[in-house]
Amino acid sequence: MNPLWKQVDEYYSDKLHAMDPVMASVLKANNEAGLPSIDVSPLQGKQLYLLAKLKGAKNILEIGTLGGFSTIWLARALPEDGRLVTLEFSEKHAAVAHENLRRAGVDQKVDILVGPALDTLPKLHDKGFSDFDFVFIDADKRNNPGYLQWSLDLVISGAVIVGDNVIRNGRVVEENSEDEGIKGIREFADLLAADTRIESTAVQTVGSKGYDGFVLAVVQK
Ligand code: SAM
Repeated sequence: MNPLWKQVDEYYSDKLHAMDPVMASVLKANNEAGLPSIDVSPLQGKQLYLLAKLKGAKNILEIGTLGGFSTIWLARALPEDGRLVTLEFSEKHAAVAHENLRRAGVDQKVDILVGPALDTLPKLHDKGFSDFDFVFIDADKRNNPGYLQWSLDLVISGAVIVGDNVIRNGRVVEENSEDEGIKGIREFADLLAADTRIESTAVQTVGSKGYDGFVLAVVQK
């Protein structure tokens, strides 16, 4: 990885206040609990916050919680009566996230549902979680196609969908990849392209997390 990418990330994180003591304590808690540092970067977290604010999001779905770093950024964008539900496979990750959300003072706005997201998503509507206006997809990439299909069922018209890690060091262009994650991302891209309800783009990024990127989409239903 080009060391300048990290340096520039740090410059702008400091300059534009993408880190603060609470967020630093969240990353410390994740590290101490042995969680992998695969959360979004501080600048990416703030980007999610700004996107949710621009959208005026009130009802957010997140797939892939880890220690709640992105969850907290998104929850900070919510109005007083806003809600966020986040889906996480690992009980351990969910427990760390729960404590982090409490530490950040956003736990009252957030529900963490534990289990494989493809099992949780079909139950969301009956549990009273639906009509999402913003979705952040950031779990196991091989299941991105299913996550997109469920998201389309659960969102309202005009909803924003952000999908992380869709470039993977450029490996997304490998047509014959046997990697389940790459296959999932390519199928996700096929679904985005084929669905006339969706307008989308992909943004390549470099930074402290290397060379990757995200998909940004708007859904009209
Ligand atoms: N969004 C987080 C952040 O930026 O702070 C990072 C999420 S991390 C990239 C992916 C998370 O998805 C991990 O915590 C992992 O346990 C979880 N995950 C993996 N497979 C999953 C599944 N089938 N259902 C739900 N969560 C899953």
